[in-house]
Amino acid sequence: MIDQAASAFETNKEEEDPPSQNIVPFESPSLAGEDGVFSVFNKLPDNVHFIFKKSKHNPFPENPVSKNFHHHYFPDATQEQWNSWRWQIRNSFTSLGQLAAFLNLIPDELGSVQDAKNTLPLRITPYYASLLAMADGSLGLRKSVVPQVFEYQIAPEEALDPLDEEKTSPLPNLVHRYPDRVLFLATSFCSVYCRYCTRTHMVGKKNRNEMSKLHWDNAIAYISQHPEVRDVLISGGDPLTLSDEHLHYLLSRLRAIPHLEIIRIGTKVPAVLPQRITRSLVNILKKNHPLYLSLHFTHPDEITIESKEACDRLANAGIPLGSQTVLLKGINDEVGVMRKLMQKLLVVRVRPYYLYQCDPIPGSGHMRTTVQKGLDIIQGLRGHTSGYAVPHYVIDAPGGGGKIPLLPDYYQGHDGKDVVLKNYQGNFFKYPDML
Ligand code: SF4
Repeated sequence: MIDQAASAFETNKEEEDPPSQNIVPFESPSLAGEDGVFSVFNKLPDNVHFIFKKSKHNPFPENPVSKNFHHHYFPDATQEQWNSWRWQIRNSFTSLGQLAAFLNLIPDELGSVQDAKNTLPLRITPYYASLLAMADGSLGLRKSVVPQVFEYQIAPEEALDPLDEEKTSPLPNLVHRYPDRVLFLATSFCSVYCRYCTRTHMVGKKNRNEMSKLHWDNAIAYISQHPEVRDVLISGGDPLTLSDEHLHYLLSRLRAIPHLEIIRIGTKVPAVLPQRITRSLVNILKKNHPLYLSLHFTHPDEITIESKEACDRLANAGIPLGSQTVLLKGINDEVGVMRKLMQKLLVVRVRPYYLYQCDPIPGSGHMRTTVQKGLDIIQGLRGHTSGYAVPHYVIDAPGGGGKIPLLPDYYQGHDGKDVVLKNYQGNFFKYPDML
């Protein structure tokens, strides 16, 4: 397995990270020194060395809006640097003061306090910031990642861990709620922090140590000892912010478990840091089939030539791509916006999978819609566009009830032996049931 992975790196012609050196010892932490998030994760097998070939030519595209932003705000950054995911993370915006350089912050944004305890940090990659800075159409994106003062208005029904994941966690970084699958929380770091994140209680927290190699190994051992687990979802945080070495280690250890049938990864990276989808990352992922990716997209403005390139690379490697979208007030809660997003996702070969009702995390009232709004959006999609463009609308039930699907009232009950149905135009039809 190790030799296979090493050869994958040797054939890579496009790897651009780390920009300053060609050979990285395996024990190097992925992003050590930048924010300390991975500082506990620096002990991995020391008999392996990965050879990274620095890119001479990186064809990753750059859309005109991002290009303008790049040259205006980062005039010294070369094309190669801008296209390096590590450069993007190193140069991310992490304070309102930095955002004020290119965004005309409104009072509700200026009123948010970023050093308050237990709040979600601010982090936005330069690439994603360039989308916020667009002249139009960017307000939805902006609200999803720029904190507002409303985050400090906590409603009684809101909770830090609304899905009660910690109650079904046999280990600090593993959730085992459903009989045949587990959720593996591989990291607490994300390249961009979404203001509505379900896991605000854990993401971006520097003092959490659940992500050490010991914790990973314990979780892997747990899965090995539970033959009923046939499916693992790796999430966090964003697993694709881990280094290639760490991902290779995690995936190959999981893949070696005979009863584990499929591996899934949840990530927002193709939307916020598409440059991370390097050839070498794709090589690692495709060696671990069957592997599925659940991509987190929020708004049609996220579908750019960069995110398309990222999705193309993944789809061309035979990785099935599904999307997850959270329904958010003032961001994507209009049928037209949602339809555009779902249609654009299909064009970049991502199958819309879930539309989530926003979880009641603390300070989320300004982002949550009514449930009726979600039903109206599904009604506005079903029949009005390709069936492939209609996701499952679900509420992840507070208290650990799991995902519960919701549908508009197409089924109207029985009239004698007939089922009464309402179609997408509101017309009624009968179907002879086998009663
Ligand atoms: S990328 Fe996912 S885990 Fe990270 S902040 Fe956004 S929703 Fe949360």
